[in-house]
Amino acid sequence: MIKKFLQKVFNKKTKAQIAINQADNSQVGSAKRITAKAHKINKNLISSAALKTCEGLQKAGFEAFIVGGAVRDLLMNYKPKDFDIATDATPEEVYKIFRRSRIIGRRFRLVHVLWGNETIEVSTFRGHHQADGDGQTADSGRIIRDNIFGSLEEDAVRRDFTANALYYNPVNEEVLDFHNGVADLHANLLRMIGDPVTRYQEDPVRMLRAVRLSAKLGLKIEAKTQAPIQKLADLLQDVPPSRLFDEMLKLFLSGHAVESIGALRAQHLHHGLLPLLDVVLEQPLGERFVMLALKNTDDRILAGKSSNPSFLFATLLWHEVLKAWEIYKAQGHNLIPALHMAMNEIIDAQAKKLAIHNRFTATMKEIWGMQPRFEQRAGKRPFAVLTHPRYRAGYDFLLLRCESGELPMELGNWWTDFADASGEARTTMLLPDTVPKKRRKRNRKKPVTGTDSVTHE
Ligand code: ATP
Ligand code: MG
Repeated sequence: MIKKFLQKVFNKKTKAQIAINQADNSQVGSAKRITAKAHKINKNLISSAALKTCEGLQKAGFEAFIVGGAVRDLLMNYKPKDFDIATDATPEEVYKIFRRSRIIGRRFRLVHVLWGNETIEVSTFRGHHQADGDGQTADSGRIIRDNIFGSLEEDAVRRDFTANALYYNPVNEEVLDFHNGVADLHANLLRMIGDPVTRYQEDPVRMLRAVRLSAKLGLKIEAKTQAPIQKLADLLQDVPPSRLFDEMLKLFLSGHAVESIGALRAQHLHHGLLPLLDVVLEQPLGERFVMLALKNTDDRILAGKSSNPSFLFATLLWHEVLKAWEIYKAQGHNLIPALHMAMNEIIDAQAKKLAIHNRFTATMKEIWGMQPRFEQRAGKRPFAVLTHPRYRAGYDFLLLRCESGELPMELGNWWTDFADASGEARTTMLLPDTVPKKRRKRNRKKPVTGTDSVTHE
């Protein structure tokens, strides 16, 4: 719905703009110059941190533009979620201008400028990677290191899509458009700059970006940009797992995950990414579960709520964990140790393709680890579950399992009621304790013999 609304707003604006464009625009080098009167960017949508960064750089005598997705979003009249700045200052020069800044990255060195809790990413114009400098290309054509600085015009050629190669100077309020990005946006097209095959070979992640941005922005991938994707899908195998993770996280949290996953599958791009997910999506119950989870995440994001990536990745891999858990149980391992073995196995297998950050895997394991505890509804155990720090995530996860048909809905409803009930009512809800009480083994200390036992006391 939001997409439709944006399109409506955008299309409406387009007609008015095109009329003014004729009179207002002129050429700057190879770029079209679009004035404030023509583009009508609402400056209130720009963060003051981004404005201050541009002003700081320009006062120090450098060029500075807001660039990339932020300009594209501003032209579509919605608030960018992050701002990137491009400048002719080197990372060291940027670092000297801003007291609270740091140089980051190896493959692509840039500067983070901090304002309160907002971070603005500042990168130096990049040049052609064949030029002399600090660049490195793999045999497949993939660019491994890219620190060759260049001119504004060269920087624009290196960006992925025409709509992402727009430069907005917030001081004079002009947009520079080197590759007809504004016209493509008006035509609802996502078009690769240059030869798409070469550009995908340089960086296969651009295939994922095409799918993600087209779903997120409601843009159609232009025919030539689209054509080579299916054939080149295997190139993704060559991309470092941590980069894939970052891009997939963006995709899952874009508010259009269901659509994006559908598009990835249609273009056979999913094989190299989430091989385990691939298997899951082929089982009806697994697919239902994953799609429900993605739909929930989309709804939350589009409603402006946050979504926890650990929860999402826990759902994506759950049916594989379930399968491995069954195998370990069948081999005679006890319920809980078997679950832990399954969790570790699946996370390790996944890490080879797409490395889920450790900070997320710890929470994923907690969510999974809680699941058997929801099936125990007698004695003191349910009370302990309610006090678990991850109870809410574990419970939401349980509800999804019920909704997908993996568990009876009655179990999820019981937990909803149990959490809502007063202390006394909770006791009446408990099921009879059928689990035989374990007899405690008495831990008899062996007598210490000889000199081979060492104590630290
Ligand atoms: P989003 O709104 O989802 O952040 P974005 O286009 O801003 O989308 P970023 O990852 O923030 O995506 O990248 C910022 C800009 O950097 C892009 O708009 C594009 O100009 C450039 N860029 C990013 N990734 C690539 C890439 N793989 N190849 C070429 N240019 C890229
Ligand atoms: Mg961005």
